[in-house]
Amino acid sequence: MVVRRRFILCTALVLAAVSAGALPPRAGQAQFPRDIAADNVERIRLQPEDAAWLDHPDFKWQHLQTEHFVLHHDQKMFAAKVARMGEQFYAAISADLPDLQDRTAPARSHIFIFRDPRDWQTVVAGTPGMEPWTASFVRGQVMFLQETGTATSEKMGTLAHEMTHLVFNRFLPIRLPLWLNEGLAEYYGEFAYRAARGMGQGKRNAFRPLKSWTPLDVLLQATAYPLEPAEVHLFYTTSKYLTGYLLLRHPREKWQAFFAQLLAGQPAMSALLQTYGWADIAELKKDFARFAR
Ligand SMILES: [Zn+2]
Repeated sequence: MVVRRRFILCTALVLAAVSAGALPPRAGQAQFPRDIAADNVERIRLQPEDAAWLDHPDFKWQHLQTEHFVLHHDQKMFAAKVARMGEQFYAAISADLPDLQDRTAPARSHIFIFRDPRDWQTVVAGTPGMEPWTASFVRGQVMFLQETGTATSEKMGTLAHEMTHLVFNRFLPIRLPLWLNEGLAEYYGEFAYRAARGMGQGKRNAFRPLKSWTPLDVLLQATAYPLEPAEVHLFYTTSKYLTGYLLLRHPREKWQAFFAQLLAGQPAMSALLQTYGWADIAELKKDFARFAR
């Protein structure tokens, strides 16, 4: 889920942490989006509540297909960009999961694109459990993407955020804790588009000082988004900073060990303290404060 609308915290920065393999491949034949007829739309991974949007009489969908996605849209220019960048983000994010397989392939995930704010309100109102501030979201194998904002980098940032959730749903056999799921999505959301454009990197300036953040003991144990809308943005920002802190300011082997423990089913909190060598959460809070301030 992505909060409406996060500001870009830093403009001079790139995904410094991704491995060399994360450089996306050039768009090849397999990634070239092609039009498909409604009758040929793959439905194997659509739940009934998703298919209802596809069959909704108010939407005159057209369809584009790539190697991993079927896109439903009403304007081809933007949809084709989403298709191409979506495949590049897929390549970059999955390259950071070298030991995992795409468990959904060859089935495709679906991307619904909404451009009219009123349509988007209909989607949010018609989806149980959705917060009113939701700007875009992923449910299972389906992305509901709203085209908002004016800058391409902003739109593609939202796509990269949601693509992180979608790739995780395809690759991960476990559910990540909320802070890590949103933290990584924010991290890729901010940096993946620039990385895909081949823009330079500036690790040191990646994270500007924060005035305040969500207390880490609250963040690490959260299983739901904050109730107070004012705290939602802070929650996302703190998640991104903690994720960036773990990825950028520590040896990569620690991240890999941490992630391996999560995949093995260990609770996130103990895996985190153990692999990074903090005696307790108070010690982690002290170190994080030095990074975030
Ligand atoms: Zn999200």
